[in-house]
Amino acid sequence: MVQKHLKYFRCFLFLHVFEEIYSPVQKIAFPPLKNLFVKRDDLIDPYISGNKWRKLKHILAKAKADRKTHLVTFGGAYSNHLVATAAAASRSGFTSTAFVRGEEVKNETLLLCRLFGMKLIFTDRESYRDKHNLFNSNFASDEQAYFVNEGGASMEATIGCAEIINELTVPYDHIFCAAGTGTTAAGLLRGIQRHGLDTKLHIIPVLKGASFIQEEIAKYTPVSTHLKLHLDYHFGGYAKTTPALISFIKNFTAKSGLLLDPVYTAKMFYAIRDLAKQGIIGKEEKVLAIHTGGLMGLFGMKDKF
Ligand SMILES: *Cc1c(COP(=O)(O)O)cnc(C)c1O
Repeated sequence: MVQKHLKYFRCFLFLHVFEEIYSPVQKIAFPPLKNLFVKRDDLIDPYISGNKWRKLKHILAKAKADRKTHLVTFGGAYSNHLVATAAAASRSGFTSTAFVRGEEVKNETLLLCRLFGMKLIFTDRESYRDKHNLFNSNFASDEQAYFVNEGGASMEATIGCAEIINELTVPYDHIFCAAGTGTTAAGLLRGIQRHGLDTKLHIIPVLKGASFIQEEIAKYTPVSTHLKLHLDYHFGGYAKTTPALISFIKNFTAKSGLLLDPVYTAKMFYAIRDLAKQGIIGKEEKVLAIHTGGLMGLFGMKDKF
């Protein structure tokens, strides 16, 4: 009886977590651009933030449909994806486990993961590489376990990210988004293609030498002329910053009231301004920046500010 009620309650919670969201489009002053708008996916949830919410939505639905109750995933010690998965799992009736890359550490991100009930397995970098092997050797006998790739990379994730485009009520000349794996970019491209829009999709990879992103996107949708990859705004590579990027964040946040993280969204906004200054983006054109959330990235770089 209690079990039955618990099941019903969990089902209700699941719907509650993923049905209603608040992600307005807001205009901000950002010279030289006159029409810069921001899609505030960062406001969707403090922990299941931005694109991580978009990606997990259909992953959890699939796991639920497959009658799985245990999410097993992978990430670095500052991974936004880990916190998001832990939070989403705890609110939707799943348990969660994460393989965390590298030796055991303590930080704000992992503290939240633990509080949301996620079991953490610290894994040396060598073993971490083969995620399917880690999953199979630890959870082969757990029929409830559901494999969620690092960063949530999957077809389900792209379906959730394409929904960002469904929510837009006016056309934009350009949409900008930061990229790690490129899954969010693939979803946005699918959305643009499906709606038959002329919008250009500008992707800012935050890793150095990230031409692989194009192949990654092509796994999910044909690469069309909508896509513009900008490979020169990595600032030295993943989680690397420069004094110019840090001072950009300080100025931007003080003037707009929007927080940026140094790993993803700051690099995107910096690129937008740079491309506008170069005249590659016209001053009068309508530009939409996707704020993919992820403010945990700030905590990994406290000493830089
Ligand atoms: C994870 C993350 C991204 C990267 O998303 P991908 O789908 O892996 O490209 C972008 N922005 C923020 C804030 C993130 O946390």
